[in-house]
Amino acid sequence: MIRINNIKLKIGYKNEDIEQAIRKSLRINSFLSYKMAKLSIDSRKKDQIHYVASVDVTCNQEEKILKKVHNNNIMLIKGADFKIPEYGSMPMQYRPVIIGSGPAGLFAGLFLAREGYRPIILERGMAVDERTACVNGYWKKEHPLNPNCNVQFGEGGAGTFSDGKLNTVIKDKSGRRTAVLKTFVEFGADPSILYVNKPHIGTDVLLTVVKNIRNEIIRLGGEVRFEQLVTDIEVINPETTLLHIKKLLKPEETYELKSNAVILAIGHSARDTFEMLYKRGIPMEQKPFAMGLRIEHPRTFINEAQYGYHPDYEDLLPTADYKLVHQAANGRAVYSFCMCPGGYVVNASSESGRICVNGMSYSNRKADNSNSAIVVNVTPEDYPGDHPLAGMYFQRELEEKAYQAGKGAVPVQRFGDFRMNRMSEIAGKIKPCIKGAYTFSNLNCCLPEYIRDAIIDGVLSFDRVISGFADDDAILSGVEARTSSPIKILRDADLTSAHTCIYPCGEGAGYAGGITSAAVDGIKVFEAVMSKFMIPEAST
Ligand code: FAD
Repeated sequence: MIRINNIKLKIGYKNEDIEQAIRKSLRINSFLSYKMAKLSIDSRKKDQIHYVASVDVTCNQEEKILKKVHNNNIMLIKGADFKIPEYGSMPMQYRPVIIGSGPAGLFAGLFLAREGYRPIILERGMAVDERTACVNGYWKKEHPLNPNCNVQFGEGGAGTFSDGKLNTVIKDKSGRRTAVLKTFVEFGADPSILYVNKPHIGTDVLLTVVKNIRNEIIRLGGEVRFEQLVTDIEVINPETTLLHIKKLLKPEETYELKSNAVILAIGHSARDTFEMLYKRGIPMEQKPFAMGLRIEHPRTFINEAQYGYHPDYEDLLPTADYKLVHQAANGRAVYSFCMCPGGYVVNASSESGRICVNGMSYSNRKADNSNSAIVVNVTPEDYPGDHPLAGMYFQRELEEKAYQAGKGAVPVQRFGDFRMNRMSEIAGKIKPCIKGAYTFSNLNCCLPEYIRDAIIDGVLSFDRVISGFADDDAILSGVEARTSSPIKILRDADLTSAHTCIYPCGEGAGYAGGITSAAVDGIKVFEAVMSKFMIPEAST
């Protein structure tokens, strides 16, 4: 296969334009097939905005063509396909059990199911349709927060009501990242996620993809049990772990389950489960993360700042994003995080009496505002003590203050008022685009001074990149406290915790930061399990 890099394409290009560029670059009249490998937008010159593409072409006599064209942008490539490992030799008496159906758990589950391991997935939250109704009911104040089924917990995990960005900084030498994206496409995502440089699904499509993956796991002999909370984990011996499970629909009903491979894919918000694991002596340590607020601007304002004024391109260009970083005067790194173009701020709380926010979008990214977290790095030195869970207690403290500031709703404030440390009464020209109840407040009381100062410093500096970013009317909401896990659950070279048969996995354990990397870690753990065990014989 020949890769051609750096093909310039006009906005609104057609397939014929790509085909013509291939013929011209390779100096040939025909080829067998091609597929887009990468696609990004170059908007550095606003009056010459265009796409830049890489294309993989299959044709006859590829080596001969390459010698003839002699161009650094054109090369022979081999696909790095993900390789399923060989089966291990250890007998598996008890089926693998996966705790959590987020991207890490679902991908571990799907890959294990495909190889015949018939995994059991235990998920404290509801299946996606019931979960959607439950989350919407909470947002509309029809019922209180359900601490087991919310934006963090339930089928699909924290990613379900998300922006669905699938980009990740991890390299793809193993082919796992591509395997994740191909799996998303197989189960309903748009094939363009395989080549656009910032792939995005959107919550509406994710809901379907997640359901399709679940049905496939079941079709292959696996099980997905919803509203089942794992309340305790006992290591019986290095090969066997006993799980205590509560059926949430019938809380008085509990049962036990033995497993030779327990995949702990619990996400970064399962605070009660972290506490249980700590009590059970599972080795863990503190980890740095980031905290801050979310900021909203009109979608059209961000589009124009990034692309220039192009009314003709309104439906041809993706909604614009940004990535901003600044070193604050107090030495803290402050940066935009999990930017949601044309999306909503969501009340993403999972504990009663505490409020946290995050961002979500639909696949068309056409909501009125574009939002992003503006977060400041925090390290164990900032935490209240040396306890491995101190970072989590720190999150709780800020989330409690946010709950009080918003009197149970999401507290919001104009940026101008935040700077002046005065309460906002009403919105200015920018109206909040928030899923869940919100109320105007003063966010200063939710944050330590160093975070507050770094945010103000950061937003003012971002105004030099995107003029108008520091508009007094930009809407802030808080707190954004769950950027990643505040702890790391240690694992050994074979990916188990302290030579037990427990496999810490995904974002909650500290091995991922986002949907794609969590799914990749799910695949890694699947490989570790498969290379160790034979397929289970008995269905215990
Ligand atoms: P999770 O997805 O958190 O899944 C863990 C699951 O375990 C949950 O479903 C939980 O209910 C279950 N569980 C926990 N404890 C127990 C227990 N004791 N018993 C049974 N079940 C249990 N990332 C991106 O890459 N792009 C984005 O655009 C993006 N947007 C986001 C928007 C929002 C609103 C949120 C909340 C997150 C977003 N993220 C995004 C982050 C992303 O969702 C997470 O990184 C990812 O979901 C982590 O995957 P995971 O499988 O490790 O854990």
